[in-house]
Amino acid sequence: MTHSTVSPPMPLRIHRTIAAVRSDLSERRASSAVPITVGLVPTMGALHSGHLSLLKRAREQCDVVVVSLFVNPAQFNDAADLRAYPRSEDHDRRSAELAGADIVFAPSVEEMYPPDYSTKVVVSGVSEPLEGARRGRSHFEGVATVVTKLLNIVSPEIAYFGQKDAQQAAVVQRMVADLNFPVTIEVCPTVREPLGLALSSRNQRLSGSELARANALHHALELAGQLVAAGERDSARIVARARDQIDAAGVSLEYFELVNPDTFRTVQVIGAEPVLAVVAARVGDVRLIDNELLEP
Ligand code: AMP
Repeated sequence: MTHSTVSPPMPLRIHRTIAAVRSDLSERRASSAVPITVGLVPTMGALHSGHLSLLKRAREQCDVVVVSLFVNPAQFNDAADLRAYPRSEDHDRRSAELAGADIVFAPSVEEMYPPDYSTKVVVSGVSEPLEGARRGRSHFEGVATVVTKLLNIVSPEIAYFGQKDAQQAAVVQRMVADLNFPVTIEVCPTVREPLGLALSSRNQRLSGSELARANALHHALELAGQLVAAGERDSARIVARARDQIDAAGVSLEYFELVNPDTFRTVQVIGAEPVLAVVAARVGDVRLIDNELLEP
């Protein structure tokens, strides 16, 4: 079904409580003569064109598009990062409306985690290396827990995630498969600045010279792709060249690895399985991540 089958189009609704978003969605489902498709785009707000690409995809595929704006404290291991995270609800509301969202769900922390809140969702394996190791176990526990809550609150047919956060998408896919959530996870391509930097809410905190240096992450991923295209099959050599390039750009590298995109286990030799190049680095105070699938 497409959006045109639901009529008439309604103005954007903003809900702050779980009860309100649920009752809005049940009314929309009940008032349609045929089953409708609900799409959910979970975000932490500060919407940019990367988020909007997810919303546009949802708009094309779903009858009702819900975007959640919730800076989830449970997934931050660093209180300063949580405090510095940009918040811009008015801008987000306007952007969501222009991108064709039907419902904004913007709950408070207390609404999502009341004082007696006690439950966590733990996904082992894929959540453990790289981002899991760097940001601590609590990061992906926080992500899995809030995504579980949002899926249970909205009950979407399709939920949209960005390839930009590839390990997060892999953790969510593992969880949805393991726990039999009745939802399709759609992973959308990374949206980039013209010179290659992946769009991120954190880019707002980069100065002009830092923005230029931040392109080094994308350039290192491109170098890895070029080496593979030229026939290199030894991961260690590719990783060494990419790391050297990032060091030379004056960016503080956290990791550059070649991994399997589903399990996030390290790949030693290119060719036998799909390979994702993943990178994390600090530019000034700002931690950035990016990734690219390498095609042999
Ligand atoms: P965030 O608000 O950072 O939690 O991101 C919300 C969703 O948008 C996640 O699924 C991200 O992977 C996705 N996203 C963030 N940046 C981009 C981007 N540059 N391109 C595509 N998707 C993105």
